Amino acid sequence: MRALALMDHGGLGSLAVLDLPAPAIAAPDDVLIRVRSAAINHLDLFLTEGVKGIHPTFPHVVGTDGAGMVEAVGAEVTSVRPGDRVMINPAVSCGSCSLCRAGEEVFCRSFGIVGEHRPGTAAELVLVPERNVAGIPDAMPWDVAAGFPLSTLTAWRMLTTRAKLAPGETVLIWGIGGGVSLAALLIAKHLEARVVVTSSQERKLARARELGADETYNHADRTPEEIAREVRKRTAEGAGADVVVDSVGEKTWEASLKALRPGGRLVTCGATSGPQVSLDLRRLFWFQWSLLGSTMGTRREFAEIVALAGAGKLWPLVDSVVPLEQGRAAYERMARGDQLGKLVIEVSR
Ligand SMILES: [Zn+2]
Repeated sequence: MRALALMDHGGLGSLAVLDLPAPAIAAPDDVLIRVRSAAINHLDLFLTEGVKGIHPTFPHVVGTDGAGMVEAVGAEVTSVRPGDRVMINPAVSCGSCSLCRAGEEVFCRSFGIVGEHRPGTAAELVLVPERNVAGIPDAMPWDVAAGFPLSTLTAWRMLTTRAKLAPGETVLIWGIGGGVSLAALLIAKHLEARVVVTSSQERKLARARELGADETYNHADRTPEEIAREVRKRTAEGAGADVVVDSVGEKTWEASLKALRPGGRLVTCGATSGPQVSLDLRRLFWFQWSLLGSTMGTRREFAEIVALAGAGKLWPLVDSVVPLEQGRAAYERMARGDQLGKLVIEVSR
């Protein structure tokens, strides 16, 4: 099968399109999917240079998101059959430990992500467990379906289960443009929150306003701290935002805390500008902040977003689609930070 694969941890130059042996049904709950579209996430970009704790076998098929047609199923699969249009929940766990049985799959000891801990979606065929596939709404095109799961799931868990964003609350989202921040914007509006977003590009802010952003800041001409001050000024009693979504890390951490009201919640799922931050514990306890980590989501949370997608909600923006043979171009666009929405790779047509 044709596949976009990483040959070693040498950066984008180590990506190559090649012929690899196709996977086949092995376990009774396996679903083999003929991939139509794959989508990449920041994880994919980081993996080209190597990620602590992840040890791929090279050549490693990349791609953390995908959608396609069921090709074959294992003996015990009942929820889908060959020919069904499905998208893939990239959060894979053992399915049998006490945490998985309790619906807390994200804490499973063998929790992993398609395209990171196992072969990815940028290949003509991919094998995943039955519990990781969901039907695609009829009206949803392949590229939108491929771009939906990872970032929507991540943002959904961040804002609902973790930050418990409530109607009427103010949420600040740094750096609109990537998959998670755009999904967070859509989800926050769905939850009837007041949404503040930032970007260094006016065209991204304009699109965010079309999607419902209530307040936008260009950080090309302002420091994050200056934006934090403005955000506070526009909240009741100048207290600050109820929730801050920060996946930027080092560059925005201090400003995130400055923008946060006493009792506010800061939730993070990434650190694109660097992972090392400092914290004055006196401020933490005095302001009674909640600093929340979040990653991926549970099967229940995935079912919740799939239901919303079926109702026509939370569909991601697609930035661009490139054919498999030019898959590296999607990575290059992400590395430059040019994307506004999902970067999709068309694997087959
Ligand atoms: Zn488990």
